[in-house]
Amino acid sequence: MSSSEKTEGIVIRQTDFSETSRVVTFFTHDFGKITVLAKGAKRLKGSFEAAIDLLTRCQIVFLHKSTSSLDILTEAKLVSRFQSQSRDVNVNYAGLYVAELLQSCSEEFDPYPHWYEAAVHTLEHLQAGEDYRICVLRFELQTLQTLGLLPEFEQCQCGRPVLDDRERWSLWIQQGVLLCSQCRQPEHSSRPLSGELLTMLRALAHTPVEQVFTGEITSAQFKTFRHLLTALISQILDRRPTMLGYLQF
Ligand SMILES: [Zn+2]
Repeated sequence: MSSSEKTEGIVIRQTDFSETSRVVTFFTHDFGKITVLAKGAKRLKGSFEAAIDLLTRCQIVFLHKSTSSLDILTEAKLVSRFQSQSRDVNVNYAGLYVAELLQSCSEEFDPYPHWYEAAVHTLEHLQAGEDYRICVLRFELQTLQTLGLLPEFEQCQCGRPVLDDRERWSLWIQQGVLLCSQCRQPEHSSRPLSGELLTMLRALAHTPVEQVFTGEITSAQFKTFRHLLTALISQILDRRPTMLGYLQF
């Protein structure tokens, strides 16, 4: 038994399966992550118009098997390719990091349409030449939000609200909770965060995905954000993401 399903997806991984075929993983709008066999995908002028390169966005049709055998890709029509205008390799690495997060933080057939939209817009912003460091931060925050792991940047667990004053806050990475200076214990300590930084994190996390982030971020602030997000993402994956080893911030 199998059913024919239609959706849109981004290619997040592919591996050779045989002389002529590939196994392709898509992150799709309607089904989340799916892995399909693309027969003949390696043949020149194969059935898929060479549409299935990494980070390519496609309209696809696939046969979903009720048994444990691999689903079969039957159609793939190009929607858009990820082609950076910039010569900066970091833009490509940032795109690959989006793919890595989608791959590593998701389960098969567990759909998150909003996360899919976030990925599509992140790739578009990267292609349009937006600051890749901001694109990466925003997608990391959107990933945490999707997984229900985005810390509240609004108040301490004791209820004390974040104000733009001199209070030094810190994030307890293992628990993903914000702590005020009174609740903080040395073993919880991340780098100190000011109210201003926390306001900026909220703005980065909640700017609608299709919009460009217009705030100004200094290099010192970037450093703090990078440190924080690397720790939070590594905590989920139980390892440091591979692409963060390539990206230069
Ligand atoms: Zn507190």
